[in-house]
Amino acid sequence: MNKEAEKYQKRAPDWKIICLKCGLSEPFGKYGIRKYAASANNCTVGWCSNCKRLRCHKIVKTR
Ligand SMILES: [Zn+2]
Repeated sequence: MNKEAEKYQKRAPDWKIICLKCGLSEPFGKYGIRKYAASANNCTVGWCSNCKRLRCHKIVKTR
């Protein structure tokens, strides 16, 4: 495992994603690193288990 991947793994618990539609927040770890990398902007499309459909999510650091 390279250093970068290790860093992300350690950091993941501090991140969560928030559904912009309903406000549901879920642990980011559930969605993995690749999605984060693809979402350097402020919006990531992902499945919201509350809306039961694809929604725009925001990724935030919890501390
Ligand atoms: Zn939602």
